[in-house]
Amino acid sequence: MADGATGPGAAASAPASAVMLQRYQRALLGVFGVPQLVLDHGDGAWAWDVDGRRYLDLLGGIAVNALGHNHPALVTAIAEQAARMVHISNFYTSAAQVGLAEKILAVAGAPEGSAVFFANSGTEAVEAAVKLARRTGRTGIVAAEGAFHGRTTGALALTHKAAYREPFAPLIPGVTHVPYDDVDALRAAVTEDTSAVVLEPIQGEAGVVVPDPAYLVAAREITAAAGALLVVDEIQTGVGRTGTWFAFQQAGIVPDAMTVAKGLGGGVPIGALVTFGPQTSHLLTAGQHGSTFGGNPLAAAAGLAVLDTIERDGLLDHVTEVGNHLAARVVGVGHDAVDGVRGAGLLRAVALTGPYAPSLAVLAREAGFLVNPVAPDALRLAPPLVLTTEQVDLFVDALPGLLDAAIDLSTRSKEQI
Ligand code: PLP
Repeated sequence: MADGATGPGAAASAPASAVMLQRYQRALLGVFGVPQLVLDHGDGAWAWDVDGRRYLDLLGGIAVNALGHNHPALVTAIAEQAARMVHISNFYTSAAQVGLAEKILAVAGAPEGSAVFFANSGTEAVEAAVKLARRTGRTGIVAAEGAFHGRTTGALALTHKAAYREPFAPLIPGVTHVPYDDVDALRAAVTEDTSAVVLEPIQGEAGVVVPDPAYLVAAREITAAAGALLVVDEIQTGVGRTGTWFAFQQAGIVPDAMTVAKGLGGGVPIGALVTFGPQTSHLLTAGQHGSTFGGNPLAAAAGLAVLDTIERDGLLDHVTEVGNHLAARVVGVGHDAVDGVRGAGLLRAVALTGPYAPSLAVLAREAGFLVNPVAPDALRLAPPLVLTTEQVDLFVDALPGLLDAAIDLSTRSKEQI
């Protein structure tokens, strides 16, 4: 909601954003292009920019701000831990680190002998998974077309998009990409040299692509038969985002390993590789992997606060309820340009009948909604898990007008070409 009267910079006439963006372009590497906004502070699902404009944050830092902005449980946990100690190295451990590992294993339903390695990001969790896979003695990895697993060079080899990979070739060898949600293609690609199959339960960056419910079950059977690991990348789908703690739990399978990040720290950087059962957990031994910061007390305290709050506040059921409400309301709008809603819980894409998403995202932002054109014909929503149905309604009520304007804009810019 563009609401200039509510923020601290509301009275200022100088566009603080414009000045800051100029400084940004002089000081920061250009890999992200020019940012869309200069944000200042937030409250729940609301965020304000430095010029005092208010936005309903339907992207949540790309599925990261699980508890929204400024959640008292997260703020308190971080402040209390910071006052005790922020960092200690992995020569030592802390109650927060041990507690978070135990909590992750519990909510993942991991069997006895399972274990956690802490990293600082999603891509680092995937790097750990790649090294885990190498320790099977095999070198092949099968991933899916459309997959996104991160940008560091190991994880990048698993990521499918050519534009991300090709400038950095050659990447690690042995990675095969197969069509997603195609059991026969997966079966054909997995051989006795396959160390691991790495799959997202829902492909987030590809446009919130949901496979058949039987796909993960088949992947589990295929990998078990071949003696390969099944690694589920829950970096975007995990920590309650799809209405269960982890999306794989909806398939009723137990993977060999799982990568987690994004929502885990509620915005404080943390990632994790979880190994299921003693056999997989023993593949990486002392000295074979490490991290200076991974799982430090501050990040671990944040992770514990996120998981405890999701549990205490019943956010898994809330996510399912609000996510279903969102999908039903968007479809119910009955706009010609809406081709349906994909996803689960609060990881959703509004599927469009044409390439309207980039224009729609710009117009939505101008109207006070933060959303993401994850594909030309798909608008991604990955809001804080605390989003309310009333907040969903604010967006859906505005959607028909935004769609009309986006189609108009797309048509006009096509005419100009
Ligand atoms: N894996 C998946 C499924 C992701 O969605 C992402 C990020 O979008 C990553 C890995 C990489 O995570 P990060 O950006 O924290 O390195």
